[in-house]
Amino acid sequence: MLDAAFMSRWMSATAASVSREETRLTDLDSAIGDADHGANLRRGFTAVTAALDKETPDTPGAVLALAGRRLISTVGGASGPLYGTLLRSTGKALGDTAEVTRAQLAEALGAGVAAVARLGGAAAGDKTMLDALEPAVEALGTSFAAAAAAAEAGALATVPLRARKGRASYLGERSVGHRDPGATSAALLVGALVEAAA
Ligand code: ADP
Ligand code: MG
Repeated sequence: MLDAAFMSRWMSATAASVSREETRLTDLDSAIGDADHGANLRRGFTAVTAALDKETPDTPGAVLALAGRRLISTVGGASGPLYGTLLRSTGKALGDTAEVTRAQLAEALGAGVAAVARLGGAAAGDKTMLDALEPAVEALGTSFAAAAAAAEAGALATVPLRARKGRASYLGERSVGHRDPGATSAALLVGALVEAAA
């Protein structure tokens, strides 16, 4: 069973991973965006862990809802409201039980991903974070490791795609041949689940 402490570990592992990979995320965003994705997410997830150090909510849903609110209020780029909505909606879908199963997390994350799609008007194949998140939700029913592998494969599969949403879409054909920064950070978020479970 997954409790509030698990969700806090998930957020800390994401913060560590995003900080480690900050330069890579920024380099990817400099190719097809404005070179701020690494800094955006480091700032956001650092604020999330700082908030969770101060007050750890006592349910998994409340931890994710708090994390989502912090991302929305600290990240200026498109990814702040999008990741914020992902975590807030996932948290809301988990309700107020003290422990949840991996299957319940998969279902709630599915609701979170749907909220991201609604907010950003994107779908799988548009070369966004959804290309990593959607297959991850699908595979989360199997295991955390399967979800991480699916997210990584989804991020890699954005390379040949032409961006249809966000800043990269302004480049049209020139966005082809580059890996999407948001799909790459989404794979870090999902990969951090494996660390939280270890
Ligand atoms: P900005 O584009 O405002 O500089 P970031 O660089 O932090 O914000 O984030 C860019 C990432 O956000 C993209 O790589 C993409 O994955 C994601 N993104 C952008 N627009 C959308 C959207 N409409 N729906 C889903 N994801 C999006
Ligand atoms: Mg950017």
